[in-house]
Amino acid sequence: MRLLLVVALILTAALLVASFAGAEPLPPNELGRVMILEYHKIDYPEARWTRTPENFRRDLETLYARGYRLISLGDLIDGRIAVPAGTTPVVLTFDDSSPGQFRYLEANGTAEIDPKSAVGILEAFADARPDFGRAAVFFVLPAADPPNRLFNQPAYEGRKLQYLASRGYEIGNHTLWHANLGKYDETIVRGQIASAQEWIQRHVPDYKIRALALPHGVYPKDVSWALSGSVKGVTYSHDAILQVSGGPAPSPFSRDWDAVRLPRIQALEEELRHWLVYFERNPGERFVSDGDPSVVTVPATLRARLRSDLRNLRVVER
Ligand SMILES: [Zn+2]
Repeated sequence: MRLLLVVALILTAALLVASFAGAEPLPPNELGRVMILEYHKIDYPEARWTRTPENFRRDLETLYARGYRLISLGDLIDGRIAVPAGTTPVVLTFDDSSPGQFRYLEANGTAEIDPKSAVGILEAFADARPDFGRAAVFFVLPAADPPNRLFNQPAYEGRKLQYLASRGYEIGNHTLWHANLGKYDETIVRGQIASAQEWIQRHVPDYKIRALALPHGVYPKDVSWALSGSVKGVTYSHDAILQVSGGPAPSPFSRDWDAVRLPRIQALEEELRHWLVYFERNPGERFVSDGDPSVVTVPATLRARLRSDLRNLRVVER
């Protein structure tokens, strides 16, 4: 990854950028951490692996009100953070392609997206709040047992994947049927990953899958098996591997950034609240954008934490 970036080196107290309405402006800090939120079922009732549609919508409202803005996982990986000055990027991920994540309802001969499915909620929210952004990654299971097989509406599988890709959402690899990759040898691990991609690309032939979410959070014995390979003519290459827990991710500009081991936050009531409160109390640890994706703004005191391989940086002191 080549990044052409300018580092604007500033003292945090010296510059307060314009920020979102109703909240205290935060100075830019693009070495702060970023939440990658992990959802499973969007359904009833609320449970360990289930968020209700109402609670999911409320999560979006809470994030928006607190100055978070959606970015794609790809943009995070690429360090292309295009959110307004004073706001914080957040990534939404959905694992296991359960029905409530994306459902079509049929009525009068037409099919419409269920407004209570995650995609319906995201679409409505993005229409109402265009500056929130429209982004989420769906780590789907192409050959799991129902109901987790590609959102569980066989007649709409292709249409759904095509819709996601066309609307700027992302599709990720989660293996063919949620295989625990730590249990298997190289042939099976690679086969699971390549086959999952092949199934997805039957519906969206040109779609480039960039990330794998580990089923159960378990790495294969050799991580390189999951990163890239070729099986029976199917070539896969991942820029990121996502875990199932671990807290907020480091900034992509930080020395701590490791795309092969990206932690996530399970979007449960308690855990989400914990981290939102944490960043309210520790605003200096939160990624806050300078509003310019071509510039990396960091507090002078944190300069040593910048990645050393960002070779093309130009340092600008203010
Ligand atoms: Zn899963």
